Amino acid sequence: MSNKKGNILQAQELAKQIPAVERLKKGPVAIIECIEEIPCNPCVESCPQGAISMPGGLNAVPILDWEKCTGCGLCISACPGLAIFVVDLTEGREQARVALPYEFIPLPQKGERVVALDRQGNELGPAEVLRVQQGKRLDRTCIITIAVPREWALAARNIRRAER
Ligand code: SF4
Ligand code: SF4
Repeated sequence: MSNKKGNILQAQELAKQIPAVERLKKGPVAIIECIEEIPCNPCVESCPQGAISMPGGLNAVPILDWEKCTGCGLCISACPGLAIFVVDLTEGREQARVALPYEFIPLPQKGERVVALDRQGNELGPAEVLRVQQGKRLDRTCIITIAVPREWALAARNIRRAER
């Protein structure tokens, strides 16, 4: 498959996972960007709300019930594919918040200015680290929450620490 065709297919799959605008405005919600049909389901097990299911079986891609999802973020670190994010586009807030899985060290600090990256690793621009979550419950996958311009909410998927 050509890269271009693959990218179009990937974009179509990802688009299916984006909740309706009205749901996004209500508060944080998970965005599951898992497009590989592989035998894997820790995301389903991790969700205390029962919001993630795999009606198509263990090899199918997971489906999120956006109305059940509270945006707690527990599924982010449970996913070995680093494919789950929580996007917060609460209405009235100046910036969006994106919670993402992060496995590099050293970790950024709360308040640190970093560079937001898109899915391909291209720079979007500066972002601020709002929260750094780590601990036994998260295994070795930390969760970094960043503040970004609202228009980057569905694009910002990684960070790079600024040169020090
Ligand atoms: S963010 Fe929380 S409620 Fe939403 S799918 Fe993930 S674990 Fe479930
Ligand atoms: S845990 Fe991650 S990689 Fe595995 S099915 Fe769920 S979203 Fe996909």
